[in-house]
Amino acid sequence: MAKTVRLDIVTPDKLAYSEDVTMVIARATDGDLGVLPGHVPLIAALGIWPLRLFNDDGEKQISLCGGFIEVQPDKVVILAGCAELPEEIDVPRAEQAKRRAEERLAKHGGDVDVTRAEAALSRAMMRLKVAGFQSHK
Ligand code: ATP
Repeated sequence: MAKTVRLDIVTPDKLAYSEDVTMVIARATDGDLGVLPGHVPLIAALGIWPLRLFNDDGEKQISLCGGFIEVQPDKVVILAGCAELPEEIDVPRAEQAKRRAEERLAKHGGDVDVTRAEAALSRAMMRLKVAGFQSHK
């Protein structure tokens, strides 16, 4: 059986990633999903959580703002609202977004859209986590 699977990550504006990987671990809405080459076909919804992918260089992480994953034995396709490699993440921007969301949530005011602020906070925290991730073999 093949040792790798092709991973394509597609966002509204680009093909964010397209490489052969040995394993993918994604946070689906009903739990973590580990995908090795030859996995049975499935489709699952993804949460706002770093995608973990593995190749001969070790582990890499990519930020994903939710979306869908389609798994085939030789191919994994992820459709995501956004996806960023660690080097693409603007850390001061994510820190600002985190502060903004925390301030909105702290207000408890009637005009604060709590679900929206919580999602913004999750995206910002995920970006900061991915930007600070150190790969180890
Ligand atoms: P912000 O409030 O800073 O715009 P956001 O979470 O509302 O953050 P999104 O709506 O998730 O932003 O993303 C809009 C676009 O901006 C996407 O293309 C996303 O990849 C990009 N983006 C958002 N935040 C960052 C960041 N910190 N670094 C790099 N790209 C980012």
